[in-house]
Formats: sequence, structure tokens, C-alpha cells
Amino acid sequence: MIRKVLVANRGEIALRVVRACRELGIKTLAVYSEADEQSLPVQLADEAICIGPSQAAQSYLKADRIISAAELGDVDAIHPGYGFLSENATFAEQCEACNLKFIGPSSQTIRMMGDKVLARQMAIKAGVPTVPGSKDTIIDEKAGLKIANQIGYPVIIKAAAGGGGKGMRIAHNAVAFTKEFRTAQMEAEKAFNNGAVYVEKYIEEPRHIEFQILADSYGHVIHLGERDCSLQRRYQKLVEEAPSDFLDSSLRAKMGKAAVKLAQACHYEGVGTLEFLVDKHGNFYFIEMNTRIQVEHTVTEEAMGIDLVKWQIRIANGEHLTLEQKDVSCKCHAIECRINAEDPDNNFLPCPGHIDFYYAPGGKGIRVDSHVYGDYSIPPYYDSMIGKLIATGDTREEAIERMHRALSEYIVHGIKTTIPLCKKIMLDPTYREGKITTKYMETFLNRISEKTKVQK
Ligand code: ADP
Repeated sequence: MIRKVLVANRGEIALRVVRACRELGIKTLAVYSEADEQSLPVQLADEAICIGPSQAAQSYLKADRIISAAELGDVDAIHPGYGFLSENATFAEQCEACNLKFIGPSSQTIRMMGDKVLARQMAIKAGVPTVPGSKDTIIDEKAGLKIANQIGYPVIIKAAAGGGGKGMRIAHNAVAFTKEFRTAQMEAEKAFNNGAVYVEKYIEEPRHIEFQILADSYGHVIHLGERDCSLQRRYQKLVEEAPSDFLDSSLRAKMGKAAVKLAQACHYEGVGTLEFLVDKHGNFYFIEMNTRIQVEHTVTEEAMGIDLVKWQIRIANGEHLTLEQKDVSCKCHAIECRINAEDPDNNFLPCPGHIDFYYAPGGKGIRVDSHVYGDYSIPPYYDSMIGKLIATGDTREEAIERMHRALSEYIVHGIKTTIPLCKKIMLDPTYREGKITTKYMETFLNRISEKTKVQK
């Protein structure tokens, strides 16, 4: 029985977990770095323990300190959130060894699906289409070149341990390949302490469409439809929505079935996401699995009317998933804008600092998941996301209008944010027509910068 959960994260996701636990009657213990003493999850949790200095490597990434805090606080389970240790199989294993329930799949499943090459192999075995590419990691550029020549250019070189868009390089021809291969290896080594890379066909202007999975520990797996996360900058998502207007019901059913099959094949438990690329002809290819709750889980929650974080905790508590696939249907259209403390006019430079005044929008169909407030100082040590604004509507058009209205009400004084940029996106005719591929942001930013030059 889970009576008390340690929240091994910070920011809006820590707050999200604290809130879900409170509603389930479960106590929470927040762990925090020195920089986060004043943060909202720390103030709202039942208990809090400081686990170290501000740098993540000295606090949120210190598994031993988190486990000590769990023992001191006498908790039954650890919720890892996203990022930090959430996809670290060794940490999940340590929790298992200490009899602490890691809220997520088993360490074995994380180890397998967290490695992109092993996950690809698993998908191929399960009969789920993958992007044409290498079967294994590639040690040297000669072997890579051979495969790239076989697949045909352009190709993308990716880190096996990849995440956050790091360690990915595109090569348009054999000459570029050697250079890009070495750069990808170096980037991967630096970011993940693991230089292993592999090669895939580069799909031109695809949609990024991912399926949300919910699985209990008794082998019952369902999917909760898709999220369209094609609106990205440098492989990082900025605006997400559910459902995707690119999928018809037959493609949705096919992809959903493939997602469930793969989750079953890896004995999945909890919430998880299977990411796919879809080309303009409707061919879909599995690219990776995220074995944790995702930032954009909120759009699925709103579109489907299901609380994913509560289900995640209930499943970890040994409950049966009582939902059947036929019970799940889309109730509305949902869009999420990531509100980042960044300056879009200055190459998205992170803008940590003091928030002098803060006012969050509300009203029908608006949800704000954020840990910040007026007079709060955003520390410079972590990622720049300070909140998520979610708008729903009966139709995509209504959700867009509502999002625009809410963005216009949102006030964050003292720092630069992505709010003005998201407003421009909501007004963009190309976005409104739903013509969004992973290339959209690049062309959109070029268009608005040309417009500014002309105006000057
Ligand atoms: P990460 O784990 O670093 O986020 P992913 O494998 O999830 O990396 O890919 C992130 C993004 O990179 C995708 O959404 C897509 O925009 C781009 N991408 C990845 N693989 C390919 C590919 N084979 N062809 C074209 N774009 C790709």
C-alpha cells in the first residue's frame, strides 16, 4: 500500500505529482536543492528535505541522497517525474533493491526501451515498423558510411542513449557523413557519457506523432490516442495537441494497435509514450519510447478526460486498470503551449531571474500547470520551462482562439518568455490550417524575422 511518496523532481511536474497525491489521500515528501527552497512544490508537499547544492549533478541526480531521504522520510514509493533520474535504470534498480516502489516500469524494461537501438530491435521483433537504418550501434565511420550508402541520403546519425535532441546530426552526402558521424559521437559522449550512435534514414518533413500508453501490472494495456508534437525547435517540442488532425480513424487504429503491441512485448507497466514519425503518405515509423510521464501528458488528460498521473500512482499501488479500450474516446481538442523563460528575439537565450509580477489566465477551457508565482526567482541551473498553458475547445479552431485569448491575458513581468511567440503561432494561417511538420518552426521563424526586417 502506498501511503507516502517521495517526489524526486522539481518545478511544475513535482507540483503535479504533489497535487495528484493529495487528491488520492497519499502523503508527499519533496526533495529539493538549495536553489529550490522557495519553490511551490516544496511549500505544498507535506514534508520536504534538502538534498544538496543547486547544481542538478549535486542534488536531483544524486541517487544515493534521494534514497537516503526516502529512508529518513519512511516513504513507500518514489515518483521520478520526467528528466533527471526518471529513465535511469540503475536508479530504478536501487529503488527495487531498497523495497521502494519506483513509480514506473521495471528497471529491466527501462534498460531495454531507454536504449534506442535495443528499442528499435524490440519493435522490429514485435512487427512494428521502424525507420530504415542500422540494426546495431556503429563503432566507426567506415561501417556507418556503408550503411548510409545502402539506405540512401539524407541520413540522420543518432545517439543510442539520446534525449532532448542531443547527439543528432543530419548528413546529406557521403562527404558530410564522416564529419557528422564524428560530431554525433562526440556530442553523445559529452551529453550521455556514452558515445554509441546509430544511423537512420532521414525522413523529410515528417509529423511527430506519439501514442500514450496505460498499462497495469497484470498485462492489461490500452492506448489513449495520439499527440501531435510536430511543432518543435531544434528537436524540442514547443506546442503539442491532441488529437492530430493528420490522422484518420483507420491510421489512428493501426498506430494505436502497434503501440499496444510494443508495450505488451516489453512487459510495460504504468504510463509510457511510443514516438513515431509519419511521412506525408501516412507511413509511420517507431523512433523511440519514453518510459515515464511526459511534459505534454496534459493534452491527453484534457482531450480524453483521464487523470494520467493518478492512474500512474494507482497502477504502482497494484490496482487493476479498470478502463477498456472501448471506454476511451476523445472528448475535445486540446493544445498545450510551453511557457519557457527564454528570449525568442535573441536566439532563445535562457532568461532566468526575478518575476516582478505574475498573473495566470483562467476561464472556461483553460488549465495552467506552473510552479512559479509573483516575486519568485527562476534559478539559472535547470531547464527554462516555467509553465504549461493548456486550452481546450469543441473544435481545433475553438481551442486555438481560446489559447490566443489566454496567452493575451498571461502576464509575466521581469523576464522574457515564449508567450509572445506562442501568440504569433496561434495567429499564423499555416498553423491554423494544420500544415505542421517538424520543419514548421524553422520556416515560421524565418518568415517572422523577414517581416521584422521589412518593417524596420
Ligand atoms: P530525442 O530522444 O533526443 O528527443 P527522438 O528520437 O525522439 O530524439 O527525435 C526527436 C526529433 O528528431 C523527432 O521528433 C524528429 O523531429 C527528429 N528526428 C528523429 N529521427 C528522425 C528521422 N529519422 N528523420 C527525420 N527526423 C527525425
